[in-house]
Amino acid sequence: MSIVIIRQDDKMDVWVAAIKAIAPDIPVYSYLEEHDKEEVEVALVWKHPNGTLVAYPNLKYIASSGAGVDFIFEDADAPTHLPITRVVDTMLASDMSEYVIAVIFSHLKHLNQYKINQINSLWKPMDYHRIADFTVGIMGLGAIGTVLSKDLIRFGFKTQGWSLSKKSLKGIKTYAGQEELTNFLSTTQILVCLLPLTHTTTGILNKDLFEQLPIGAYVINVARGGHLVDEDILQVLDNGHLSGAALDVYHQEPLSKDHPFWQHDKVHMTPHYASVSDTQSVVPQILENYKRMKSGKPLLNLVSKSKGY
Ligand code: NDP
Repeated sequence: MSIVIIRQDDKMDVWVAAIKAIAPDIPVYSYLEEHDKEEVEVALVWKHPNGTLVAYPNLKYIASSGAGVDFIFEDADAPTHLPITRVVDTMLASDMSEYVIAVIFSHLKHLNQYKINQINSLWKPMDYHRIADFTVGIMGLGAIGTVLSKDLIRFGFKTQGWSLSKKSLKGIKTYAGQEELTNFLSTTQILVCLLPLTHTTTGILNKDLFEQLPIGAYVINVARGGHLVDEDILQVLDNGHLSGAALDVYHQEPLSKDHPFWQHDKVHMTPHYASVSDTQSVVPQILENYKRMKSGKPLLNLVSKSKGY
């Protein structure tokens, strides 16, 4: 009866140690070390190598160690008939909110442009922008988007959100479904994508969508690279329809050195850093689900197979 951790980044030891620190009695292994695969009941995964999950014949469920589960559905060999859980965590949400708000203020006060001007010894004051001048639209009013919307309201931003099912959130104008997308976009000056990556949302950030935003709109993609059509955003940045974009996620990570985003003066990039699962905050919920599985109770934060998130 054990947990296996399958991930390809440099955080394997941190996750193994974090679980052992709280639950020394539960055997936990890196998938790279010697272990009895028949004993493994839970796979805690993050961008695992495709095909690795088939080695575990007695898995009871798959746990994503992040909010997203797109990479599990992208693995054609993953046993997706099993329950899949994901992380819903206050720290993950508040970290994301802090990041997005930092990006929005940087845009409002032209901080990226002033840095470029400083490098060129250029004294050039630009139009002054205030919070009250902007409506922020959030695509995805889930665990993270909702926290962001509340924080934005506290700062005084006009805030609206779009989701699959209609929401009622105090102080936030809400839109739902394809039929309300155009109205949402036409009144959004700063667009934040916080959607899960599914069959329906892949490529949603495309030319058609950008052209429905007001001229001069700013786009922030902190969800997944697969939401964005790279050539389309470059086109609307170059023709002036969008004033800029902040990107944290990419089709390929790390992004290839020759990608045009790197050199584009209207693209502001971070390396998938907007919000990262913190083991201290997340491991207790992983272990809570392990206990629930052992005692036959329903698992928390289950993913809907039909919706894909
Ligand atoms: P949730 O599942 O809680 O929320 C998803 C939201 O998107 C819901 O409001 C849902 O609508 C809405 N949605 C889904 N599909 C559609 C659709 N087709 N049309 C309209 N709305 C849709 O996710 P989280 O808030 O926890 O996380 C969102 C994403 O953020 C993650 O999937 C992950 O990819 C990304 N992320 C990125 C990080 C980073 O560092 N860059 C860190 C953490 C997360 P409804 O409420 O009606 O179901």
